[in-house]
Amino acid sequence: MLSEVYRICAKCATANEVTANFCLKCGTKLTAADEKPLLKHGGQFGDALDKLSLTKEEHQAAKNLIILAGPIPQGYVFSDMVYANVESDASQSDQLMMTKLVQNLYRSLYSLQLSGVANLKIVPTVSSSGLSSTRRHLLAYGDGFKAIAQSQS
Ligand SMILES: [Zn+2]
Repeated sequence: MLSEVYRICAKCATANEVTANFCLKCGTKLTAADEKPLLKHGGQFGDALDKLSLTKEEHQAAKNLIILAGPIPQGYVFSDMVYANVESDASQSDQLMMTKLVQNLYRSLYSLQLSGVANLKIVPTVSSSGLSSTRRHLLAYGDGFKAIAQSQS
């Protein structure tokens, strides 16, 4: 659905095709152990990214963010919990809510200066506040992570 499996390079974090035996960017050897389900921008989020009202800096940063459905990848360390949510009335389309959710998620990641978020969960809920008013909520949360500083030798 939202995730696809990629071979994530342990050295440079590039998402390679699952059939790749070497990283396309840096040539590191890849094995099945590097396979991670990844919410890649190439999927739904990629379509969303261009439509988001982000600043130029946020947009650039968002392109480099890693959004994973699995554990924190090698080369990164847990930093902060990340939350993003969006609330709307019942008439709002799923797609628009999702776009807003992704936008809030990117903003949150950007403001915390993270490299990405792992273990991402998206939870939809509906609440009714009397009479006919129904509110819909989308909550996204996960483990924000930062790259481990590599010593250049
Ligand atoms: Zn690489």
